[in-house]
Amino acid sequence: MKALVTGGAGFIGSHLCDYLVANGHEVTVLDDLSTGSMANLHQLDGAIRFVHGSILDQDRVEECVRGQDTVFHLAAAVGVHTIVDRPLESLRTNLTGTENVVEAAVRHGARFTVASTSEVYGKNDSPGLREDADRVLGSPLKSRWSYAAAKGLDELLAYVHGQKSGLPCVILRFFNVVGPRQTGRYGMVVPRFVAQALEDAPITVYGDGTQRRCFGSVFDVVPAIVALLDTPTAHHRAVNLGGVEEVSIKGLADRVRELANSRSEVSFVPYTEAYGPGYEDMQRRMPDISLATELIGYQPEYDLDRIITSIIEARPAGTPSTRIPATP
Ligand code: UDP
Repeated sequence: MKALVTGGAGFIGSHLCDYLVANGHEVTVLDDLSTGSMANLHQLDGAIRFVHGSILDQDRVEECVRGQDTVFHLAAAVGVHTIVDRPLESLRTNLTGTENVVEAAVRHGARFTVASTSEVYGKNDSPGLREDADRVLGSPLKSRWSYAAAKGLDELLAYVHGQKSGLPCVILRFFNVVGPRQTGRYGMVVPRFVAQALEDAPITVYGDGTQRRCFGSVFDVVPAIVALLDTPTAHHRAVNLGGVEEVSIKGLADRVRELANSRSEVSFVPYTEAYGPGYEDMQRRMPDISLATELIGYQPEYDLDRIITSIIEARPAGTPSTRIPATP
């Protein structure tokens, strides 16, 4: 197939490109390199077409979508720090950008996926969130919730356009997907802890570290993205993707320190120092992945230790210091 990957120079996008190329597909990437990097694609030099541009640029989007069979829409403003520090740009990218991409896909008859997030469940911290779980909305005036608000609307856009056009489309709800190439610069905890541990620098646990997450490997998630779009019973649905092994953030720090053979100490950083005043962290976020299992036989193969090890091993030796402050 001919596929466009928006955000293909980003973390999940670049792994998706690897997978698509390895499976013989013709890949175009549209990326503005705002958070992604060409370094994520260097292994695909000559194997893909790269277009440098923004999803806010309608002409560029049009040019990239024309002639494609499939659009994987992964371009977005991501990371808590990005959302909190640049609320307006983030909203524009995540709302208008998605509208541009989805409308172009429909115009050109391309099937499409839209990347969404566990954040759409909002403050719902029940264990085993199913796709039909209620959203518990945070205040629209707290920029921390703007990502959830925008992604919720993206889902609706994709859903309504998919229904109306009859084109196959899938909404992907990613739960803390991690792996090599993810940067810690915009907040994500695992690459931050790994970088800190490898430098024997303090591991910055925000709050008291009792908050829990389930981390999913990008290597498990990427094949599922493609499989879902190839599965008619998955069309016009939102599907959770991630892992189900729950760990506290303090527990994560300990695992990373041990697996990296590190002398780092754990340093507890108050939320206000990390994110500014009034930040509402989620105490727990755990998916129910039985829908993905039912639809495509999704069964994560990477447990937490293997995920952490894959990230440690992918860090090239002699990487210059990337010491990340608690408040970038
Ligand atoms: N976190 C942390 N130290 C860091 C970065 C993040 O303790 O250096 C915490 C963060 O407060 C949250 C968890 O790790 O409780 C996961 O954060 P991330 O931004 O990776 O994902 P999300 O909050 O979207 O689940």
